[in-house]
Amino acid sequence: MVLDDLGTSLRSSLDKLQGKRRLEEGDVEEIVKEIQRSLLSADVDVSLVMELSDSIKARALDEEPPGGTTARDHVLKIVYEEMVELVGDSTDLPLENQTILLAGLQGSGKTTSAAKIAWWFSKKGLRPAVIQTDTFRPGAYDQAKQMCERAEVDFYGNPDADDPVEIARTGLEETEDADVHIVDTAGRHALEDDLIAEIEEIDDVVDPDRSLLVLDAAIGQGAKEQARQFEESIGIEGVMITKLDGTAKGGGALTAVNETDSSIAFLGTGETVQDIERFEPSGFISRLLGMGDLKQLSERVERAMQEATEEDDDWDPEDMLQGEFTLKDMKKQMDAMNRMGPLDQVMDMIPGMGGGMMDQLPDDAMDVTQDRMRRFERIMDSMTDKELENPRVVGQSRVRRIARGSGTDEETVQQLLEQHSMMEQTIDQFQGMGEGDMQRMMKKMGG
Ligand code: GDP
Repeated sequence: MVLDDLGTSLRSSLDKLQGKRRLEEGDVEEIVKEIQRSLLSADVDVSLVMELSDSIKARALDEEPPGGTTARDHVLKIVYEEMVELVGDSTDLPLENQTILLAGLQGSGKTTSAAKIAWWFSKKGLRPAVIQTDTFRPGAYDQAKQMCERAEVDFYGNPDADDPVEIARTGLEETEDADVHIVDTAGRHALEDDLIAEIEEIDDVVDPDRSLLVLDAAIGQGAKEQARQFEESIGIEGVMITKLDGTAKGGGALTAVNETDSSIAFLGTGETVQDIERFEPSGFISRLLGMGDLKQLSERVERAMQEATEEDDDWDPEDMLQGEFTLKDMKKQMDAMNRMGPLDQVMDMIPGMGGGMMDQLPDDAMDVTQDRMRRFERIMDSMTDKELENPRVVGQSRVRRIARGSGTDEETVQQLLEQHSMMEQTIDQFQGMGEGDMQRMMKKMGG
């Protein structure tokens, strides 16, 4: 995730302020240095970094902390506010009829993002359609078609045609029943004149409400020139940053946003169609700083739980949050987690769980791989109802029986039981997080 180490290093500088009432210039210098180091190593433009550190320094020393605020909270709030300012608002995307044009270099993740964005709109209750006009990259048509099938959204493309402008025109007619049209375009390895000419023509025909630039998070400062060119030719309203799951960078995308005077619309966090997040500046920065992102988390949890309950009428997640956490719940929970995305990403969103907390948990806690899940499921199938309801009755001889019955081994059965108890503790923490805590946290963050 972008700027992954910022939260950790910043927290350790902030922790040194614990108990202090007054801020010394040296304290501020140290914190600003940490921020600079993190931002620069994530490829954020030097002048942006300087601007940010100057305002943090000035505000931290000039502004009087409100009564009762510790030095630590005072700085944290300023850093938070300035960082939110740096990343800017998210691109305005009303939930209504519209046409979105995607631009970007080959390999940036356009085709994948087109299907993701369509999926996102479909979850908001709209009917999206993807129009694939990339006649340049072999395989683009099949890839787009497959992803749209997975996303269960309308799709138009024509593998036999060679004029992208014509495909765009026909595509809009053929998908006229859709509310949101997402037009994917061809990319090249570099910005060539014919790419620019082609996308300008498509832009004329499609007349999009918004053009989004798709950028690989790892791009670095090359983003600047790319952004400028696309801005000049078609105008860019927003940026989708892809592959944030695979890199600690992402700063280049901020430069692009600055260059096009636009904003971030979406984040891509994986290869499947659901790995998309709407960019929310305050949530994004809270997560980065290890404050947790309650909004994103609750949305994801809600969606996953909804899908899990749709499949099983007898199971109510409310029960789990109120009463005992049984192995049956765990099975559902694992299902739901699977739908939410990788567990470590989900954990990052829980306040206090990002960074520090995560390090304290054994690595195994995060490692719920598909393969393991399948073995766990077989094990649970071999357990009696009583054992599932109350895993504590499972002693050594039962472990042996279950291992044999499920065709696994005793160690895996033990792992399942340990996993259950670890998840039980996590759920306990969830339960302990009352409304009051959330309000206090929001207040602390100045919101
Ligand atoms: P295009 O040439 O711009 O259309 O790019 P593609 O959509 O084909 O994406 C290029 C590669 O990046 C593919 O292998 C995608 O699966 C991968 N990809 C796209 N978005 C993401 C993302 O958010 N995370 C990860 N890990 N991979 C991505």
